[in-house]
Amino acid sequence: MSRPRIHVLALGGTIATKPDASGVMQMGAGADDLVKAVPLLATLADIEAETVSRVGSHSLSFDQIHALAAKIASSKADGVIVTQGTDTLEETGFLLDLLVECDVPVIVTAAMRNPALTSADGPGNLLAAVRVACDPWIRAHARALGVMAVMLDEVYAAADVVKAHPTRLNGFAAPQTGPLAALVEDRVVPLSLPVRDAIEAARRRLGKAAGGAQPVALLWMGLDEPGHLIEAMLGTPDRLGYRGAVVGAMGGGHVPERLADLVGRLAAALPTVVSSRAGSGAMLRHTYGGPTSEIALRKLGLIWGGRLHPLKARVLLETCLRAGLSRDTIAEVFDAFG
Ligand code: ASP
Repeated sequence: MSRPRIHVLALGGTIATKPDASGVMQMGAGADDLVKAVPLLATLADIEAETVSRVGSHSLSFDQIHALAAKIASSKADGVIVTQGTDTLEETGFLLDLLVECDVPVIVTAAMRNPALTSADGPGNLLAAVRVACDPWIRAHARALGVMAVMLDEVYAAADVVKAHPTRLNGFAAPQTGPLAALVEDRVVPLSLPVRDAIEAARRRLGKAAGGAQPVALLWMGLDEPGHLIEAMLGTPDRLGYRGAVVGAMGGGHVPERLADLVGRLAAALPTVVSSRAGSGAMLRHTYGGPTSEIALRKLGLIWGGRLHPLKARVLLETCLRAGLSRDTIAEVFDAFG
């Protein structure tokens, strides 16, 4: 039986670092180096290795991920693996999930520990990602699974995965749903299929999302937040260059009381999504009263982000704005997320 063709696209990140003369890690390895470091890969698949960039994922742009999505769409491989940094994997993976038609497995992987450290996880994660991409159950369910993230022998939906720790090997989790599958020895153990109705509905509305960059402000609410950034946005005609905003609200969808008028005016000025800073779980819709309760904020025209983490809500809003969707359509897209 012929081996699956797997296309490895390397963007950079810790997985691709090398120590410089002083011992500090610098971007260096390309896709060929990553593949050569794991000889076992050649026994599993015919690998095509392509270096797309050599940057830390904290410096990636929406435009770069749109270009990557086009590259994935034109790949003739039986599976695609993207290697990148861990810092924004939860955002880039979700964006790819919104943009790429997954007829074959599409997997994002990375490394928490750099190659100079004992127990560096890059080679193991790449091997695991290739195993997952070649697995018959994964291949049969590629469309139902959507874009996946493989880290530390677990397979997550890119739409649900979050970076939960800055340095530990087990830095990734999907707190709302858990993993889709696990790797044990050399096999994939299926655990669940994701519920993708909201994502598929969003994808239908987004189409190619072909417009240019649409900066979205992330306004994280904290105890006693005075709202000066919102005042500054409202005080300039171009809203400081932002086209949309995500409010990382408290709990079930609340902001400090003195911000009621400000967030209402912000929602009137540009599409503004409320998403819980708790990071996982759908928000309330009709439990609390008062001027900055969820009931009041929804009446003021704030778009409810459902169960999306604020970072994922920001990705979805940027993509909706690129696609030129109206405020009402954007609200419908988000409404499906719970
Ligand atoms: N700063 C790095 C990056 O995201 C961290 C990593 O790769 O883990 O590119």
